[in-house]
Amino acid sequence: MKTIEKNQTYTVTIDDLTHEGLGVAHIERFPIFIENALPDEEVEILIVKTGKKFAYGKVLQRSTESTNRTPVKDMDLLRSGIAPLSHMKYDYQLDFKEEQVKRVMNKIAHMPDVPVLPTIGMAEPYAYRNKAQIPVRKLNDELATGFYRKNSHELLPIEDYFIQDPEIDKAILVVRDILQRFKIKPYNEEENTGFLRHIIIRRGYYSHEMMVILVTRTVKFFQGSRIAEAIQSELPETVSVIQNVNSEKTNVIMGKEDILLAGKETIEDQLFGRTYRISPQSFYQVNTEQAEKLYQTAIDFAQLKPEDVVIDAYCGIGTIGLSFAEQVKHVYGVEVVPQAIEDAQYNAQVNGIENVTYQIGKAEKVMKQWEQLGIKPNVIFVDPPRKGLAEEFIQASAELNPDRIVYISCNPATLARDLERFGELGYQAEKVQPVDLFPQTYHIEAVVLLTKAV
Ligand code: SAH
Repeated sequence: MKTIEKNQTYTVTIDDLTHEGLGVAHIERFPIFIENALPDEEVEILIVKTGKKFAYGKVLQRSTESTNRTPVKDMDLLRSGIAPLSHMKYDYQLDFKEEQVKRVMNKIAHMPDVPVLPTIGMAEPYAYRNKAQIPVRKLNDELATGFYRKNSHELLPIEDYFIQDPEIDKAILVVRDILQRFKIKPYNEEENTGFLRHIIIRRGYYSHEMMVILVTRTVKFFQGSRIAEAIQSELPETVSVIQNVNSEKTNVIMGKEDILLAGKETIEDQLFGRTYRISPQSFYQVNTEQAEKLYQTAIDFAQLKPEDVVIDAYCGIGTIGLSFAEQVKHVYGVEVVPQAIEDAQYNAQVNGIENVTYQIGKAEKVMKQWEQLGIKPNVIFVDPPRKGLAEEFIQASAELNPDRIVYISCNPATLARDLERFGELGYQAEKVQPVDLFPQTYHIEAVVLLTKAV
């Protein structure tokens, strides 16, 4: 086999895409991954990095263009990894996601016959994020906001993030300017020195309530309340300004400690007309319009009946269970983040929903406790983080013997792995519905209905 060397150039034809949307070309069966390159395009590439099993190339010149290509609005969207699919037409992005789900259903779940439906997309696949987490660093002696260059911790200053609510983009600049004016020291990552690490902004899609979280390295915040006042007066939608302290040298954005600087501790938003309170540490789907479509799909799949007892596992602030609680007998929710459970309890109350019970804890443990308490669910909803379900959780679910399980997943690979396990325990996957919650990115959300084999 020919050895591929760094800084060599080659002319290749793209023959596939990775799950991250990189073009794949092969030189004598050796795969090269290439940014901003689509199947069937012929490109001249420069090898920028080599490994034992694959290499990375960069496009120098494109001699043919795919019909699925669309002009990239700003190369920083690709450079930063904010929007790695933004060179693909949106319909093609939706097909790409469907295809990725089909691949894992085939290769990992070994279920090539389970139907994967066409991805449910958005009419306007930009400006959808209701949350931004923006690193703050020193650049040319100024406090700057932006995004990291891909695979690095070098800050690219950015003003238009395209996929975020534009009001959030504007707010980031306002907060940045206030921090500059107050001469706040930006964080220095290598040395773990400096003060301000991240600006996090959440804005309710329907409510327009804004929460600004300033993530700091140390607790003492000189002029913190004056800064919060300035934020509130220059951004009148701001109802909550929080300081979050993260002293660790880590990639994790938020620390555990929240300090209220101004306003209230939470914001509210609506889903299907119901009100939800959201705390700084609580999960809330970042694409509200598509979250409603996702939940509706899950609820439709569950075919709920008035006598059903339902478990909402990984319930967060209760959004899924509270959306259908009125249609069933009782909902049991479990979630590991205490603030989220407090929100869920409040959310039940404020919406006048009484047939719900929430439990703080790890879902895999609480499921066993519920089994011991004699709870007999007809339907289990699961909505785990990217790592998917623990083996313990899958076993406990099967032992609870529900008729239906609705699996909402943000990671097709772990979904497929878990579906195979459920299959072995007698739960058959009926259909898979991908829903696009993250246009322009390679993230894929999917809902699966499983039924008990008879
Ligand atoms: N269903 C909610 C939240 C989904 S995100 C919604 O749609 O908004 C996944 C949630 O699982 C997060 O709230 C996270 O805090 C929680 N979580 C992560 N690991 C967990 C575990 N082992 N047990 C219970 N909850 C967990």
